[in-house]
Amino acid sequence: RRDETVDVLIIGAGPSGSVASAYLHKKGFTVKVIEKSKFPRFVIGESLLPKCMEHFEEVGLLDCLKAQGFEKKHGARFLSKDIVCEFDFAVKHTKGWDWTWQVPRADFDNAMAQELIKRGVDITFEHAVIDVHFNDDGSSITTIENNEGIKTNISAKFIIDSSGHGRVLPRLLDLDTPSKLGKHSSIFTHVDDLRRPDGVEGTRITFDVIDKEVWLWVIPFSNGKTSLGYVGPTDYMESFEGTNSEKLIAMMKLSSYFKARFEEIPYDFEPIMIKNVSKSVKKLYGNGFALTGNSAEFLDPVFSSGVTFATESGLLAAKLIARQLEGETVDWEEEYSNYIKKGVNVFSTYVKEWYGGNLQKIFFHYKENPEIKKQICAVLAGYVWDETNPFVKNHNRLVKTVAHIIDMEKKQDGIGH
Ligand code: FAD
Repeated sequence: RRDETVDVLIIGAGPSGSVASAYLHKKGFTVKVIEKSKFPRFVIGESLLPKCMEHFEEVGLLDCLKAQGFEKKHGARFLSKDIVCEFDFAVKHTKGWDWTWQVPRADFDNAMAQELIKRGVDITFEHAVIDVHFNDDGSSITTIENNEGIKTNISAKFIIDSSGHGRVLPRLLDLDTPSKLGKHSSIFTHVDDLRRPDGVEGTRITFDVIDKEVWLWVIPFSNGKTSLGYVGPTDYMESFEGTNSEKLIAMMKLSSYFKARFEEIPYDFEPIMIKNVSKSVKKLYGNGFALTGNSAEFLDPVFSSGVTFATESGLLAAKLIARQLEGETVDWEEEYSNYIKKGVNVFSTYVKEWYGGNLQKIFFHYKENPEIKKQICAVLAGYVWDETNPFVKNHNRLVKTVAHIIDMEKKQDGIGH
């Protein structure tokens, strides 16, 4: 194969790369997506947020996704022993989408990739990016390698690294930095949901809080399968013995709500364990490249923000690259880095306040404040850039303050902690 030259090289065909390539291709730029695996392929990240529907809609990928008939997600239910806290995306502070999907990512990502190929986007599967050399003007030469070890080079004016857990440029350019979040690990698999209850109960996405820092996700899909995943501090997760299957079986027994539903149902595949899930980088862009999606930052699975950040950042990077290639000057620090970090910081606060206990105090309080609930619901729907929402604008203080008020109320009512 001959070496090629394109405007934009995109590493990875997950949601971030798909949305970015759809935008740039429509704008008339030459784009090449390099994808290491063969699609469909498994990846974790199955619970979406309403906000990401905007991104799929904007780049014309919504119809191919709608045609898949994925399970609709209208909100999220959190359980703590016998207390239930349910959010309905139709009742939220920020205007916007009030539903999304819960998806097996193999099918979801493949539906987008196939649609893009139909449109003429060049996606090269089963090729991995193994090296990148940047020139002073930001242009680059990328070396890719196929399964037989054959290498080719691609010249590009700009690179989007949307390689997710592959973290290609953070590794090659030494951009990784420790996350400020606690060390949590996760173990997950899929099952045939043979005892799925009828109606909404059977298809509802649920987060069952086992202990302050330990929780279980149950994500039913429209194909009859359900995703089960358990998250906790790494030390705690490592304290379970045996194979990953044995570990997950023991963990599932700790959920009084779901124990019976999933007992003795064989796992579709040996549960996968990902240790220390949070990832961070020193910078989100450089001369000739942008990091998007999981390759840039990953917080925590607890509020399902991963795919939404992936599509938000993928689309924004694509728009800025288009402007730059058309000759405009782009302020990457302000327009990309600061903007993305704003949203990341809001979610970061919620993750910290969740594991620290304040948010759980609010979620599981016996008196519900409908206004506060609407505002928090907008955050959980992914609308973390809407500064008319006090729970976005004052995220640093407000969660703590409300939790403190709840403590005082409980004291007054003689309920204790
Ligand atoms: P990916 O979807 O990971 O896609 C990256 C692609 O790049 C892959 O197809 C990969 O094969 C390819 N690639 C990698 N290396 C190379 C290379 N060298 N060359 C070429 N291609 C390469 N997010 C949610 O929104 N909801 C959830 O419920 C959720 N749960 C999660 C639970 C856990 C335990 C974890 C760890 C994450 C979870 N996430 C969740 C996050 C989610 O997995 C990611 O945020 C999301 O997949 C990011 O999309 P992406 O497009 O950035 O990358």
